[in-house]
Amino acid sequence: MAKRISTPKIKALVAGNWKMNGTGRQLGEVSKLVTAVNRKKPSADVMICPPATLLSRMAALKPKGVALGGQDCNADIEGAHTGDISAEMLKDAGARAVIVGHSERRADHGESDKAVRAKVEAAHRAGLMAIMCVGESLKQRKAGETLKIVQAQLRGSLPAVCTAKNTVIAYEPVWAIGSGLTPTVAQVEEVHAALRKALMRRFGDEGAKMRILYGGSVKPANATELMSVPNVNGALVGGASLKAKDFYGILQAYC
Ligand code: PEP
Repeated sequence: MAKRISTPKIKALVAGNWKMNGTGRQLGEVSKLVTAVNRKKPSADVMICPPATLLSRMAALKPKGVALGGQDCNADIEGAHTGDISAEMLKDAGARAVIVGHSERRADHGESDKAVRAKVEAAHRAGLMAIMCVGESLKQRKAGETLKIVQAQLRGSLPAVCTAKNTVIAYEPVWAIGSGLTPTVAQVEEVHAALRKALMRRFGDEGAKMRILYGGSVKPANATELMSVPNVNGALVGGASLKAKDFYGILQAYC
């Protein structure tokens, strides 16, 4: 077991990443989630990050108790980047946050730590909270490189100035995403403790208050156990965020 580090009480965040899923027909899931969240309010902040095409439509629903986020942004404010979206555009469409450096973007689009750092800076410039993802591959875990990998990603992907308000870290082991596999509690605890230490070393008190989410096959059945691990301050949820019933099942860990 990793050494426990005492940190201030941190309000958790449970964020749903819809990835490239959802058309107008799925907007009803958000309405169902809003109803559930307002019937019994979880102690965690709740967020949905839909595809950009649904962001302003979700925002128009004025989803009380459910904040909205984007899934990626270009580092520039505007310009000749066909198909891209700036952090300012996400903010304008109703986002409060944006996921950056998700392993699927790092893999599918070759995003380097440097590119991710520029996106974190763009999020901050636009007044969005950056949810910055780190995580090791199965090969790296098997080689005993997990801590080295996530610490290097953290170092390279965050700008010099970050606060607990404008930055959230998500630890997502690549091999746990969408696979139904999860690390053991001891493995999650070890990585989150190492991330907390690195954040505190770099950002002092702000690093102590920063949320570190766990992501990778979080489901209603394992949420309570995973969310009880020290230094786990919420979850980034993919597949199980698409249905209000499943997502609210995960939020039960905070009810
Ligand atoms: C994710 O992609 O951020 C994620 C955690 O996916 P899943 O919950 O489906 O593993």
